[in-house]
Amino acid sequence: MHTLTGTPASAGVAIGPLVVIGPAPVVAGGRIAPEQADAEVARLAAAMEAAGSELEALAERIGAEHPAEAEIFFAHAMLAQDPALAEAAEDRIRVGDDAVAAIRAAGERFAAEYRAMDDELIAARATDILDVAGRIVDRLTGAGPAGPALERPSIIAAADLTPSLTATLPRERLLGIALAEGSATAHAAILARAYGIPAVVGIWGLAEAMEAAVGAASDAGTVVALDGATGEVVLDPDAATLARFERARVAAGDAVARALAEAALPAVTRDGLAVTLLANIGGPGESARAVELGARGVGLFRTEFLFLERTAPPSEEEQLTAYRAVVEAFAPHPVTIRLLDVGGDKPIPYLPIAPEANPFLGVRALRLAWDQPGIFLTQLRAAMRAAVGTPPGTVGVMAPMIADARDADLLLRLAAEARESLVAAGVAHGELALGVMLEIPAAILVGDTYLPRLAFASIGTNDLLQYTAAVDRGNRALARYQESLHPAVLRLVRQAVEACDAAGATLSVCGEMGGDAVAALALVGLGVRKLSMAASSLAGVRRAIRSADAAALDEAARIALAGPTADDVRAGLSALAARLADREGAALR
Ligand code: PEP
Ligand code: MG
Repeated sequence: MHTLTGTPASAGVAIGPLVVIGPAPVVAGGRIAPEQADAEVARLAAAMEAAGSELEALAERIGAEHPAEAEIFFAHAMLAQDPALAEAAEDRIRVGDDAVAAIRAAGERFAAEYRAMDDELIAARATDILDVAGRIVDRLTGAGPAGPALERPSIIAAADLTPSLTATLPRERLLGIALAEGSATAHAAILARAYGIPAVVGIWGLAEAMEAAVGAASDAGTVVALDGATGEVVLDPDAATLARFERARVAAGDAVARALAEAALPAVTRDGLAVTLLANIGGPGESARAVELGARGVGLFRTEFLFLERTAPPSEEEQLTAYRAVVEAFAPHPVTIRLLDVGGDKPIPYLPIAPEANPFLGVRALRLAWDQPGIFLTQLRAAMRAAVGTPPGTVGVMAPMIADARDADLLLRLAAEARESLVAAGVAHGELALGVMLEIPAAILVGDTYLPRLAFASIGTNDLLQYTAAVDRGNRALARYQESLHPAVLRLVRQAVEACDAAGATLSVCGEMGGDAVAALALVGLGVRKLSMAASSLAGVRRAIRSADAAALDEAARIALAGPTADDVRAGLSALAARLADREGAALR
């Protein structure tokens, strides 16, 4: 037995035989005589066009079920016919390379340039370029798809997976994916999540383990147990471990079945207080699952995912397509689109931001709009166009990281400017609800000075804890401080409720705390009536709310405000939640 740990990339438990996918065999290119060059350039052009059409067809096929993920392959199709790539390859042909050697060398050159950028997101594009170059080589040599057929249900292990290989793996026999490289935002991980295939990436020691597995190849092969939620991967598990994973697999399946069965139940307390449960999503591809699990709208559409892993921002039309897809998927429920929250720790190569000593306190999110308003104006215009034909208030846009009235007014000015430009151009548009994220304590403390001018606000508890308690949210060494149920945060939640009530603005919570079933009791007790969360959290929060009544919510609010520490609040609320669940269970028996 050999236990490895990686980055969780797609939730779910898989147990099965390991199939190692080695790197695709490299077809060696050759040399040509100068008089063959023109014919070779023409042959390459035809192969690039064929690869482009093939990729477009693949994108359309995937798009029928997963529109967001299809974008990866539309981008690949464009890359396959990229004039710069063609030119670089032609240069090689003119000095004697044949088309295969030329496109390989050109692909390698571009990939090396991307890798040299020393930025994880841009570096990830190198895989895409090599993937596309490989496909062009296949067209030149007449090779078929390189993926394994998988004779039986299996877990595949590889150093990394190209997007096209991931898309062509036989899904019905693919139990799970284990990758030595890659990150949770890599295309392979995004596709695995869209397909619901458990995946763990960035696994330390997997490369060595794969070599051993290939070397040892017994009849039975190596068995792997993999948990895509925790990142645990066990090779050759012993009986006890196998039984533990098997229980987790059954429990995960049962939990999903139960969550789906309960999706239509209203989130209402025993004595009739209704709470609206919304979904946090990162793209249109996540809509169907959230609707299925009973989300009554989107409380947080993190638009930054549309901007990552590319070399230029998405156009207004591209954003319109994405926003409209989400609005249609959730109709008639509301959708809140968050303006770009990048900068600081989330750099985007095509958005110039000077290096900063304290990125979390730096030019992040809406703060970028002072110097670079264009990107936000495009977002606002796309959102306004996505709102055409929807009742007022259906489509909302909120600004992240606002600190006070000056930032809130910047949002209002940008929205007015976006609207004027649409009016001037005669482009159809709808009305947006405008709001802000409350994630900097200052914004809550002075909420009375700007909330009356807004339709809504949403509390980002992840950053609110970070900025209230001075706890870097990404620093693993601070785990003991990362308990979000800090009484200071909860007192700020209470103040936000009061400020929004006084201003007539709607309030929701969209940080991780909103999806924590125990914390949800406190939030509702403190007066929050809308909670937005990852779709997988909807069932647990709904159950907690249905188990509560006014007395329980009062008690939760008391525990939340009393503290004295975050651990005390967690312990008090957990005990209350357990009591309520027991009472619920007894009533059902
Ligand atoms: C938050 O800060 O709580 C939030 C929802 O935003 P993000 O996690 O995207 O910063
Ligand atoms: Mg935030």
